[in-house]
Amino acid sequence: MSTQLPDLNALKLSVIGAGSVGSSLAYAALIRGSAREIALFDINAKKVDAEVADLSHGTQFTPTSYVTGGADIEVVKDSSIVIITAGARQKPGQTRLELAGVNANIMKSLMPQLLEQAPNAIYVLVTNPCDVLTVVAQKVSGLPANQVFSTGTMLDTSRLRWAIAQKAGVGLANVHATIMGEHGDSEFPTWSNAEIGHVPILDWKDAAGQRVFSEDVLDELAYDAVHAAYSIIEGKGATNYAIGLTGARLTEAILRYQDVILPLSSVLDDYYGVSGVALSAPSIVSNKGIERVLEVPLNNTELVKLKASAAALKHTLSTLGF
Ligand code: NAD
Repeated sequence: MSTQLPDLNALKLSVIGAGSVGSSLAYAALIRGSAREIALFDINAKKVDAEVADLSHGTQFTPTSYVTGGADIEVVKDSSIVIITAGARQKPGQTRLELAGVNANIMKSLMPQLLEQAPNAIYVLVTNPCDVLTVVAQKVSGLPANQVFSTGTMLDTSRLRWAIAQKAGVGLANVHATIMGEHGDSEFPTWSNAEIGHVPILDWKDAAGQRVFSEDVLDELAYDAVHAAYSIIEGKGATNYAIGLTGARLTEAILRYQDVILPLSSVLDDYYGVSGVALSAPSIVSNKGIERVLEVPLNNTELVKLKASAAALKHTLSTLGF
């Protein structure tokens, strides 16, 4: 554990992009009191000013004291943490690769501007494809890999744990399960180390003594976690609340020196032989960002999936020239 105490004057969270995700993230952080100050930046001045006003009007009822923001990059000045949600969404008919190209160009122009304002901040990518953009942001900024990373599968893991808790009929806090790899189609739950209470998930039985998590059930849970975003987007156009809470929780882990283990995506260096791509693995996170990526035990099937996820990401990166 870190012995250093947080500097209470330096607890500033900046959220880049005041769209569905950015404004929900700011709202979640405001209600939870995740930071002392929350600053919102967007190139759309009318939208960001309206969001800042609306959020500010609720601060009588929140622990966080103030919200600032606007379309001037200086609002980000001296942030402790900068969470990037800015960018384009996938348009009908647009491939993920095309989206990656558009958002990579946004990161290339944004990162130098942000660094000028907040050179010591921890940078967190939420904009998709977040793993690919983490590599782009790290290369463009030259920041060390522990200082620029992505929420990765933190959201997907939360979705998975919720579904497992529902199925097992136990509280969410008793479920330990993680999704690793790409935040996207090649991600995978590491069932070999998943537990409910201290019972391996594969051995979990219902009150009648029947095994609950058969291969079919596990496949269905994995499928649902991967495809949750697609069905939510179909229903309401965007996913925003759960990712907002994810960002707020991560902010607290960083600003409060918590040394917690979360599945985050950072540029890896010989992680099970994977280097130069960012994908999610359980990582210790604190005020210095990612302190350590943990080499959790994986079985052969999971190792194959990890390598496949890395290969898919490497392919996208190479088509973008990285
Ligand atoms: P949105 O269209 O509602 O908002 C995007 C905002 O970014 C807009 O307000 C736009 O003006 C702003 N923007 C664009 N370029 C900018 C720039 N250069 N500087 C500052 N602001 C800029 O989109 P959304 O629904 O909020 O989604 C944002 C991103 O988050 C998308 O890429 C989406 O795929 C991603 N997302 C990621 C996760 C995750 O788990 N990683 C979850 C949900 C959404």
